[in-house]
Amino acid sequence: MSAVDFFGRTVDRNFRRRPRFTRGFIRLGYAAQQRLLGRRRGDRRLPSQIFLEQASMRAMRRALSDPSRCALVNMFAPAELLHAMGLHPLCAEGFSSYLSGGKCERGYLDLASEHGVPETYCSYHRALLGAVYAGLLPKPRFIITSSSVCDANTSTFRAAASHYGMEKFYIDVPHEETESSVAYVRSQLEQFVSFLEEGMGRRMDADALRLAVRRSNETVGYQRKFIGELAHREFPNYISAEMHRILAGHNLLGTYDALEFFRMQYEDILGFPVIGGNHDGGGADSSNHLSRAKRILWCHVLPYYAEPLKAIFNFSDRHRLLISDLNFDQLMELDESDVLGSMASRLIRNHFNGSALRRAESVTGMAKRLGTDAAIIFCQWGCKHSNGGAFLLRDALVSAGVKVLVLDGDAVDRRGTNDGQLATRIQAFLEMLDGGR
Ligand code: SF4
Repeated sequence: MSAVDFFGRTVDRNFRRRPRFTRGFIRLGYAAQQRLLGRRRGDRRLPSQIFLEQASMRAMRRALSDPSRCALVNMFAPAELLHAMGLHPLCAEGFSSYLSGGKCERGYLDLASEHGVPETYCSYHRALLGAVYAGLLPKPRFIITSSSVCDANTSTFRAAASHYGMEKFYIDVPHEETESSVAYVRSQLEQFVSFLEEGMGRRMDADALRLAVRRSNETVGYQRKFIGELAHREFPNYISAEMHRILAGHNLLGTYDALEFFRMQYEDILGFPVIGGNHDGGGADSSNHLSRAKRILWCHVLPYYAEPLKAIFNFSDRHRLLISDLNFDQLMELDESDVLGSMASRLIRNHFNGSALRRAESVTGMAKRLGTDAAIIFCQWGCKHSNGGAFLLRDALVSAGVKVLVLDGDAVDRRGTNDGQLATRIQAFLEMLDGGR
């Protein structure tokens, strides 16, 4: 039995009867994992990728080990404000991915269903609620959510707040950016800062906020520069790194770890060859299709436990996983002279917010820029957003000459994905793609 199997089974056997033991066991497991992340036999990970895995695990452990500084949030919460208050954000996507990575998601998903959470509900949120009901997640200091993107955010955080008997903060984000919609969100962010200050019993430190904003802006600068290089360079990638990168570019914005990771990643990519041997600032050289890897853009979250996906994409020099569109949904620097106003704009402009056409346009633009051969649109089970807009996105990409596979699956619940079918569908798609060389 592998260490991960043992971990998952021990959690499964104990989480109902012994929640405190389970909590300690999971924290211990994560601590051991963090030590192991630095070394791995036959490692092909780049220095930035090793750093990223350690930083993600560090963030997870911090949030779990100190509930008095933990903020249960959705992915789009204004992270810089939280970090300026010394808080550790914990989001459904990150938390449930870790459960799934340790093969211990099943019990929590089932427990949530026993509490009336429908099985058609997004499994990121179902697993999180199961952990709340099981006592794995102690009462956090704050619960913060918004209307951005995900309808599950509203119900999940309401249910969690009611379970703990505490208030939550909700940010209503309009779909279109206008002067009045920015002012509307800005005023909510002012109230949000007061909410945090009241809850922490102290004012937000202006220097800490300035530092978080500067780090965030530098981080976004490196993200942009990395994408600029990705347009004409090879860069080895793997499924779980892409998922970790999503967390670093959202909940960790404003931290040293996020800045350091994106800086290191930019340095790493400069060490890889330019496709076609020249660097003219355009996308990957299409005349060089015979020798270069097929370039795949991923849309939405990734089921990073799925073995067939790992076997096909991890460090593949044939089918290059470029980036998920969750890694360029909000590339926007903040205005130091109006931090809250620019945060409000960033929330509204996020390409997942508002009409599905906005996302389709942004993804298609990036696909062209990166010289993308194909895109995989992952429709997460229970996610109305990804399912509802998938065909619009597919049509936009196809019109831009990108081949598209729309894939249904569950990024958390292993029972929702049939490995055999998944492998067959992806392989058939890639064979078709390779045949078009
Ligand atoms: S997959 Fe969809 S429903 Fe689930 S957390 Fe993400 S946006 Fe929300």
